[in-house]
Amino acid sequence: MAEPLIIVGKGMAATRLVDELSQRALGRYSIAVIGEEPRLAYNRVLLSPLLAGEIAAPDIELKPAAWWRVRGVSTLYGRAVENIDRSAKTVTLADGLTLPYGKLVLATGSKPLKPPFPGGDLPGVATFRDTRDVETMRAYAERGARIVVIGGGLLGLEAAYGLSKAGGQVTLLHLVDRLMERQLDAEGAGLLASAMAARGISVRLNSATKGFVGTDKVEGVELQDGAVIPADLVVIAIGVRPNVELAKAAGLQVNRGVVVDDAMASDDPAIFAIGECAEHRGSVYGLVEPAYEQARVLATNLAGKSAAYSGSLLSTNLKVSGVGVFSAGEFEAAGDAETVVLRDPASGIYRKFVLREGRLAGCVLVGDTRGALFYLGLIRSGQDISAIRADLPFGEPYCIREAA
Ligand SMILES: Cc1cc2nc3c(=O)[nH]c(=O)nc-3n(C[C@H](O)[C@H](O)[C@H](O)COP(=O)(O)OP(=O)(O)OC[C@H]3O[C@@H](n4cnc5c(N)ncnc54)[C@H](O)[C@@H]3O)c2cc1C
Repeated sequence: MAEPLIIVGKGMAATRLVDELSQRALGRYSIAVIGEEPRLAYNRVLLSPLLAGEIAAPDIELKPAAWWRVRGVSTLYGRAVENIDRSAKTVTLADGLTLPYGKLVLATGSKPLKPPFPGGDLPGVATFRDTRDVETMRAYAERGARIVVIGGGLLGLEAAYGLSKAGGQVTLLHLVDRLMERQLDAEGAGLLASAMAARGISVRLNSATKGFVGTDKVEGVELQDGAVIPADLVVIAIGVRPNVELAKAAGLQVNRGVVVDDAMASDDPAIFAIGECAEHRGSVYGLVEPAYEQARVLATNLAGKSAAYSGSLLSTNLKVSGVGVFSAGEFEAAGDAETVVLRDPASGIYRKFVLREGRLAGCVLVGDTRGALFYLGLIRSGQDISAIRADLPFGEPYCIREAA
């Protein structure tokens, strides 16, 4: 008889896990996927182009209803798991339904960070994580509202761009002196800020939020320096934290995320975690590629074969149309590292490569991201690139010719 496998969370990691499992172990498990959001799983990465009006709502669906049905997967959506009873091996949903499991996978993702700013509960203070957030944001933007986005990282930039494109008057606030400071050096960040300004977005750096003003609804953002920026909508996009309450209440080992080993198992051998809720060797990933790698490893193990996850090398790709930004690995030349740089400020192009001991340790591409995957491959492989270093900025065709 098939063993009951319950997956909590019906997001990107869960969908990939079912996909991988159906290729490896169809029939071995009776799978139920339980998701809090009231719709089929969708591609969260595409919320940014959806916000910008570049794609339509049906375009973001990951798999149609029939895909789940054909694989015999029970999908419960609009329903949250509230409790895990590890000794009885059951989960209980908010509506009281209790289901038994043989194996349980937590794929509960993250929640947006929302610091306790004064006025944070006022209507008109939003975050950017799901389709409901996009509906709210678009409604304001389409009527030309004044919108303040807090956070100049990947998410905040995509929110600012999408809201501006949808018709909003957008101000982007960032705490430090450059955008995307965890992925870009000062020069790359400066080019990006100029590109955002050229799209009508007012960028304010070194701006710390003190709180929100307004009586019945938000009317502005007050900064630490006393300035108040009028706003009909405020979008907080300063980061996420793993959604681990369920795991904590069940007594599983949790640091920032649910602690898992190389097989994606928690400290309870019947319970696994993948995606943004999982913490592996001290790292919690906020991107989809690691979640997919983890799903593949877990599916292989659940299929009875052996696979190990050893961590992921992160790369970042900003999806703001016309302002390509790509960053991977080291982006500052610390210690004995060297740089090879191509800059063309008039065209808004900056391509920087950080080399260490004859190998590519990282790169930043702004304005022209061609060859990003080629560079990522070089970083990942750690191969010697001494023969092609002068041609690196011009992309793969030149490098291959040189190396040949
Ligand atoms: C606007 C936006 C743009 C992004 N762009 C990029 C990008 O360009 N590149 C990139 O790599 N990543 C991007 N990301 C991040 C990427 O979407 C996540 O890394 C990915 O979705 C993680 O997958 P996950 O399955 O772990 O979590 P999620 O996709 O968040 O899925 C978790 C699901 O679990 C549900 N859930 C939580 N608790 C319960 C419960 N108790 N019971 C039932 N269900 C529950 C949640 O409601 C949610 O639907 C972006 C994210 C956002 C918000």
